[in-house]
Parts: sequence; structure tokens; C-alpha cells
Amino acid sequence: MRYQTGGSILAGKVALERGWAINIGGGFHHCSSKSGGGFCPYADITLLITFLFNYYSQVVRTAMIVDLDAHQGNGYERDFKDNEKVYILDVYNEGIYPFDKEAKESIRLKVELQHHTKDAEYLREVKRGLRIALSEFQPDIIVYNAGTDILEGDPLGGLSVSEMGIIQRDTLVFNFARHNKIPIVMLTSGGYQKRTAKIIANSIINLKEKGLINVPFEKY
Ligand SMILES: [Zn+2]
Repeated sequence: MRYQTGGSILAGKVALERGWAINIGGGFHHCSSKSGGGFCPYADITLLITFLFNYYSQVVRTAMIVDLDAHQGNGYERDFKDNEKVYILDVYNEGIYPFDKEAKESIRLKVELQHHTKDAEYLREVKRGLRIALSEFQPDIIVYNAGTDILEGDPLGGLSVSEMGIIQRDTLVFNFARHNKIPIVMLTSGGYQKRTAKIIANSIINLKEKGLINVPFEKY
């Protein structure tokens, strides 16, 4: 998990160089700078964004977190409370962990889903959320927390999105980033079924085939 945390920070740096980066790990969104929780021992999202604000302050003044893991991302939400430079879009199942009401106050655009939400509704909500978020805020970088615990049958996520739904979701987010010329860092976050590993691999292959990651973004 320390390597994964280092990977998230490195991915931020790489995304500034070529427009995109994917860390096959990280996305410990329940950990804040003060305390861990929900399998998350290091606050890699906070560290990644703080690193870019500190060391790349000329190019990164604002950040958007697009958190599409099935759970609310309460760790970094606590860290970026009242921080105008960080816009948080969080789409999650409201009926599962962590029920962190205080952290919810940091979410600029909140989409709360019900148990068993399926592809059509899920993708419609994600698309609507991205459209609104990017009309309200122009970030210098997007941190995409791409949890696969939205997959049907996940023992913790409670949602019912298919493999194809996950692939379409990732495509949607990368399309938005690329279309708006915003560098993007993807972190893989939660996912509690063995088959999610293959789905993540298939989704990355799909992003490559769609021309979204096989070349550097042109003048992102
Ligand atoms: Zn999760």
C-alpha cells in the first residue's frame, strides 16, 4: 500500500507530462491526513493533490476529484473541507459505509444512489454529474477514483452495474477529460471480487483502442 501511495503521487506527475496516467492501485479515499478507515491506511489522494499544489504551483492551482467508487470518499473530503481550490464530485451508494455526514459537507456535487442501481441510470447520473461539474469549475487536473465495487454482485458496493457499464463509465470520464483538455489521473480504488482485475484490464485496453490513452493528449 505504500508503493501504491507512491504510485498515485507519481501518476500525478506523469499526468502533467502527457495528459493522463493510471495507477493500478491507490484511491484510498476513506483515509484522511488524520486517520485511516475502510481498508485505507494512507491518504494518497490528499497527498497527490497537495504534492501538485506545492511542487507544480504554476500549472496546478485547482483540482477536481471525480469519485465513482461505490462508497462516499470521506477521507479526502475531510482534508479538503472549505478548500475552494478542490471541487469534489462524488457518486455513491447512500445505503453503505461510511455514512459520514460531516464529510458530505465538502462535496460540491453529490449524487446518492440506491441499492441495485443498474447501468442505464448509473451512466446517466455520471454523465449528468460530469457535465454539471465541468460547467461549474475548470480544474487544472482531474483525479478519477475509479472503484470497481459498483459491479453487480460486489459484497460491499450494493450496486448492480455490469462489466460493460464499468467500461462505458471509464470511457465517459476519459472522454470528458480529453475533450476539455484536462490532465487526468485514474486510481483503481475499491473492488471486492476477483473478476474486477480482468475488468480493469479490459477497460484499460478499451481506453487504448478508443485512442484515449495510447498517445499523449494533444496540448491538454
Ligand atoms: Zn468502495
